[in-house]
Parts: sequence; C-alpha cells; structure tokens
Amino acid sequence: MRPLAIDKDAQDGYVIIGNSAAGIAAAEAIREHDREAPLTIVADEPHAAYGRPLTSYLLGGKVTRDQLWLRPYDFYDRIGAETRFGERVAAIDAAGSRVVMDGGGSIPFHRLLVATGGSPRRLPVPGADLEGVFCLRTLADSDAILTHLENTRRVVLCGGGLVTAKAMDALRHVGSVEAMHMIEIMPSVLSQLLDGEAAAIMQEHFRENGVDVRVETSIEEVLGEDGRVRGVRTSAGDEIPCEMVIVGMGVIPNTALLEGSGIETDFGIITDGRMQTNRPGIYSAGDVAQVPDLVNGGTRICAIWPAACEQGRVAGLNMAGAPAIYSGGVGMNSAEFYGLQMIGAGNTRGGEGLTVLERRPADKIFRRLVLKDGVLTGFILIGDVAYAGVLTTMI
Ligand SMILES: Cc1cc2nc3c(=O)[nH]c(=O)nc-3n(C[C@H](O)[C@H](O)[C@H](O)COP(=O)(O)OP(=O)(O)OC[C@H]3O[C@@H](n4cnc5c(N)ncnc54)[C@H](O)[C@@H]3O)c2cc1C
Repeated sequence: MRPLAIDKDAQDGYVIIGNSAAGIAAAEAIREHDREAPLTIVADEPHAAYGRPLTSYLLGGKVTRDQLWLRPYDFYDRIGAETRFGERVAAIDAAGSRVVMDGGGSIPFHRLLVATGGSPRRLPVPGADLEGVFCLRTLADSDAILTHLENTRRVVLCGGGLVTAKAMDALRHVGSVEAMHMIEIMPSVLSQLLDGEAAAIMQEHFRENGVDVRVETSIEEVLGEDGRVRGVRTSAGDEIPCEMVIVGMGVIPNTALLEGSGIETDFGIITDGRMQTNRPGIYSAGDVAQVPDLVNGGTRICAIWPAACEQGRVAGLNMAGAPAIYSGGVGMNSAEFYGLQMIGAGNTRGGEGLTVLERRPADKIFRRLVLKDGVLTGFILIGDVAYAGVLTTMI
C-alpha cells in the first residue's frame, strides 16, 4: 500500500462523525483509495473505538476492558486521521460544507459521513432520573453500572428486549445480585425478535432460571430514598424493591444535529444505495441510516453491528470516489441466555408461509422457517442453531 502523504495545508477533506462500527469501516475504506486528503474523525465519546456489543459482557466479567478495543492503539496515526474525541457536533452547515462544533468553531469538509448511531429511549416516568437508573449503550454506561453494582442486590430490567436480556445474562455472573425482575409491556419478552411461540420458550427459560418475568406490565414510577432508587411501582400496583433499574426501551437515531441542514430524514437519515443523502457529498451509515429493506421492501434502519460495518465501508468507498452499492440488509440477532442459544434473521414474526421444522418445547428446541411465495424470508432457531449461516445467505 502507498505510504500516507497527507496534505496538511489542504483546506478541507473528509469528516466522519462517529467513531464506531460505521465510522471506522468508512475511514479504512477511504484510506484504501485516498492516502493524501485530510481525514478527521469526531466523536462525543472520549475514547478509541470499542466493540459496543461487548459492553454487556464487560458487566458479567466475560471480557476485560483491554479486549473491548476495536483496533490497535496506534490505528488513528497509521491511517493519518485527526481525532476529535470527546467533542460533540452541534449542527451541520450543508450549504457551507462545515460541521459546527458544540464547543465553538467548525470543521470544513469536502465529503462528510454522519455515523452518529442511536441513543436509548429514556423511561418517561417520575423518578427516572434517580441515582441507580441506567441505560446500556455506551462504555460509560457499563462503567457506571459496574460501580453501582457494588451496592446492588436486586435489579429491575425495564423492557424484555435484546439489550436488557443481555444485561440479565451478564448479571447472573455477578455474585452480589440475588434477584432480577424483568418488566415487559408486551405479551412476551423478545417480541421484536421472535414470534409468540418462540418467545414463550425463551420466557419460560428465563423464569426457570429464577428471573421474575412480568409481561403486559409497565413501570409507573421509580421510587427513591435520599436520591437513590429503592424500588419501582408497576402498572399492576405492585412495588418491587430494588437498588438498580436498567432501562432497555429501544434506540432513537441521533439526528438532532441535522436540524435545519436540509438533509432528509424519516425515522433515520434517508440514504440511497451509495449511502449518500439527498445532499451530494454527505453520506450516512449505521444505526442512524435508513437503508433498503431486502425482506419487506421499503427502507428501514438495520441496527446491527455487521450492517453498520458494511454500510460504513460502502459510504467510505463512494466518498473516496470508488463506486460501491449497498444492496440492502437482513436483520439478524444471535444471543445466548442462561446457556440457551437463539438466532433470528429476516422476517421472524411470520405472516404467510410459516413452516415449523421442529418443535420440542420440553427440550427447548424450536426451528421455524418463514417463506413467502416459496422463498425463505426469515427463520428462528432456538436450542439447535445448526445451519444458521447457510439459512442467512438464502434469505
Ligand atoms: C448492549 C448492546 C448489545 C448489542 N449487541 C449486538 C449484537 O449482539 N449484535 C449486533 O449485531 N449488534 C449489537 N448491538 C448493536 C450494535 O452495537 C450497533 O448496531 C452498532 O454499534 C452501530 O454502530 P454505529 O457505528 O452505527 O453507531 P454507534 O455504535 O452507536 O456509534 C455512534 C458514534 O457516534 C458518535 N456520536 C453520536 N452523536 C454525535 C455527535 N452529535 N457528535 C459527535 N459524535 C457523535 C458516538 O460518540 C459514537 O462514536 C448491541 C448494542 C448494545 C448497546
């Protein structure tokens, strides 16, 4: 590969907002084709890029902090990137081709990538700002939870989705945690990922392992004492004593910085197949970007790590003048809870053409394919996850 020959006097270059899956993939793709133009990576998190999905494993001690980092410590020097970590972009001046920094000043760009990901939805009830209420999205969140765990015996998980279930599976390895309660407003846990039958197997499995799962229930208030959490009150009128609440109510794309920029948004940022927005030269990728949905048609956010990497790479190539197309994404989630593996991909919640290959609830085995017009559009595997890779490529 040609050595870097960065023109430090150039007035503008590439700016990437976001130092995670999409941002890093884009930076690497840019440097495959352009070793000269300045490249700046801005992120409001203060540290080098890390594996966000690993943060729940940090809670349970399955990985150490050293194992979280995505790239070697000298990565940014090696790709000739200026880093502006711990700094927030307040706005994008698309007409003036510059990003406006929260702390004052601006950075000019020739090509811009918005890879700002998402932020957790907050719990909209009284007491949600008490000490002991957490989300799990960033390394800072994990660190704060770890510190608070020292004085925690009972945990309430608000929501029964993937992130709270991952937190549950991590906290079972924490000796001081004696009780976990999962409060889910829907009729079953993991309802965004699984159909009712599969979700029922997982839910029963959680209960058998001692988790108090309450469905069709919400948290009405977080109760406190001296500014700290002492419990929650549910919609059923029960009070559950606890020292910690972990909220997992979904993620909202970080689009606030686009206000007034003229960049088109729907739920996320609307992109074309090249990951470009409606503003030429401005691209988007990852959890903030809306992309073609291969399974259901239309566009949607495909909020998983591999999709963010692929989209970031496509964006980076196009930014550097090497044409590339992102053909669309298939959502896929794979996890293991209390030793039981589950994988869901594509359309997992049915519609027409459901085919159950195997159903053995007593053994916690469930395998379902979802077909549309004879074509595989999704699958769920619980217990026996063989052939998941092959099935995914067939969707
Ligand atoms: C606990 C947990 C478990 C997960 N498990 C899995 C899993 O098992 N499998 C899977 O595929 N996915 C998983 N995910 C999802 C995965 O982490 C995301 O899909 C992925 O991180 C998206 O990457 P991204 O680059 O789009 O954005 P993000 O990782 O969200 O990063 C956004 C970046 O933008 C920066 N930023 C945001 N706003 C600004 C601003 N205004 N100014 C400057 N910088 C800004 C942030 O500092 C950050 O660097 C998990 C996520 C969590 C939280």
